[in-house]
Amino acid sequence: MAKELLMPKLGLTMKTGKIVKWHVSEGDKVAQGDDIYDVENEKLTNTIQAPESGTILKILLPEGGSAPVLQTIAVMGEPGEDISGVLAKAESGGDAPAEGSAPAAVAEEASAAGGKRVTVIGGGPGGYVAAIRAAQLGGEVTLIEKEHIGGTCLNVGCIPTKALLHASSFEDAAKAAAAYGVDMKVEKLEWDKVMAKKGEIVDRLVGGVKGLLKTNGVKVVNGMGKALSPSDVEVACADGSKKDIKGDKVIIAAGSIPAIPPIPGVKENKNCIDSTGALSLKKVPKSLLIIGGGVIGIELGSAFNAFGTEVTIIEALPKLLPMMDGELTAQLRSILEESGMVIKTEAKVMSVEDSPAGAKVNVQENGKDVSYDAEKVLVAVGRRTDTAYLDLDKAGIENDRGRITVNDKMETSVPGIYAIGDCLGKVMLAHVAMTQGTVAAENAMGRNSLYDGDTNVSCVYTSPEFAGVGLTEEQAKEQGIEYTTGVFPLAANGKSLIMNNGVGAIKLMFGKEYGQLIGAHILGPNATEIIEEMAVALGMEMTEGEIIGTIHGHPTVNEAVHEAAMAAQGRALHMPN
Ligand code: NAD
Repeated sequence: MAKELLMPKLGLTMKTGKIVKWHVSEGDKVAQGDDIYDVENEKLTNTIQAPESGTILKILLPEGGSAPVLQTIAVMGEPGEDISGVLAKAESGGDAPAEGSAPAAVAEEASAAGGKRVTVIGGGPGGYVAAIRAAQLGGEVTLIEKEHIGGTCLNVGCIPTKALLHASSFEDAAKAAAAYGVDMKVEKLEWDKVMAKKGEIVDRLVGGVKGLLKTNGVKVVNGMGKALSPSDVEVACADGSKKDIKGDKVIIAAGSIPAIPPIPGVKENKNCIDSTGALSLKKVPKSLLIIGGGVIGIELGSAFNAFGTEVTIIEALPKLLPMMDGELTAQLRSILEESGMVIKTEAKVMSVEDSPAGAKVNVQENGKDVSYDAEKVLVAVGRRTDTAYLDLDKAGIENDRGRITVNDKMETSVPGIYAIGDCLGKVMLAHVAMTQGTVAAENAMGRNSLYDGDTNVSCVYTSPEFAGVGLTEEQAKEQGIEYTTGVFPLAANGKSLIMNNGVGAIKLMFGKEYGQLIGAHILGPNATEIIEEMAVALGMEMTEGEIIGTIHGHPTVNEAVHEAAMAAQGRALHMPN
């Protein structure tokens, strides 16, 4: 029976391969395991063996030829066998993916297409990066922002939260110092000074971005923008006037706002706050109940817990941080509980009532009705796209209930209108928005750039930090991908022992078929920095062997990456295998 030999997929992201050499000719007999051809992709060259014994009946791809993975490149079978059916299927393209489906990030030279006037709606991390990139490429750029340049991230999100977390870390640092015989007691917490320092950092960064926009010649308009077409954006200016901005391309970067769940009492109770409210509290609350054990809940919960607030987290799902690796999330949960936070999972908030303390939160927990009193209730159940004002349907921009649909060039269903970041309603992270902003700006300026989210890292700023890239074990199982894992506990890592008593672990996952890194998860000191090494390794499809072959400095937390890769091969040096 004729067997098609397909262009092999030599790694998770390999899209095409090139035949470097055929070791056989048509009519040659081969035994199973004989070398038959050499194939190369951007990264490696492999010699491929015959999957079974037989005769090479037809070679379809000559030496030097390239083909998408899974395209038929030769046919083997019995001499004289009719292979016309197989050849017809191969000619029609077979099961190979369509050309151009590769989500590799490429930037080619401008095709001189289109005009140069680009209007960006939204000045958050996605929008301001898009504006700068378009200006770098020679665009005449107008950026419309309704509120603050820097958007949620700089003003009421990532940056102020991290400033608060940093302020909250000093008490722990003092405790850790005591273990080294260094006496540095934290005497008091002056909340207004914490807030002032946070504000100073935000102002400095926002000022820096404004300066960059100016240097790049970007015109900033303060108002609400609405794209009517790629060439027409209507602006309701903050001063009450209206403006029509004519251009050639539009990039929508409208961002997101906190989602308010339809829980009775939440809207009515003034002690129910969102993350913006939590970042501008006038004093540290005595108690804080958090609805939602996602990133916002965990990060702000950690900060207030360290400031002395009694923190209770109510999470509807069986685990915290749904997008993070389950095994390490369970470890983090124990650490947070040890630090004093009360965490309830599979618990659903049913209603909120007024109470002398501030709010009474009624929860259904393991089939029982329980209630909690808290001074403040932080609602952190996710964010939703901020696109209502944009009249997407009227402009013909395809969307799913306000979540804008784009292709991998970040272009919407209206050619010439691009959309990026949180307003897509997918991955709501500043670094994703920045990458997409660059891609959209390059395409708007006539280049050919594609967005590839494979190396997108998730960073949670807890103590210790928690970060991940690639697949979690849960996702690998769901997708039926076979893998091996290597876990190295940081208790056996010298630098971690010095820094945080060795709390945490590094877990690497490698695909069984090709041996390449498919996921990395780190709970430990500097996790949000170390994860970038793993993102590079994942992007380069590095294997266990290649990570092991990379010398890691000693003593560093990073050297535990090396050990985790060795653990995957059952040969870790600093722990029993
Ligand atoms: P999230 O989606 O991360 O988590 C929300 C959580 O609330 C989920 O676990 C969900 O199961 C739970 N939930 C929903 N309804 C509930 C209910 N009625 N009762 C109890 N639990 C309920 O959302 P978030 O934490 O609000 O964060 C919003 C966005 O901001 C996310 O996209 C996040 O990635 C982003 N963000 C990122 C960072 C970071 O990267 N460090 C920090 C903050 C926010």
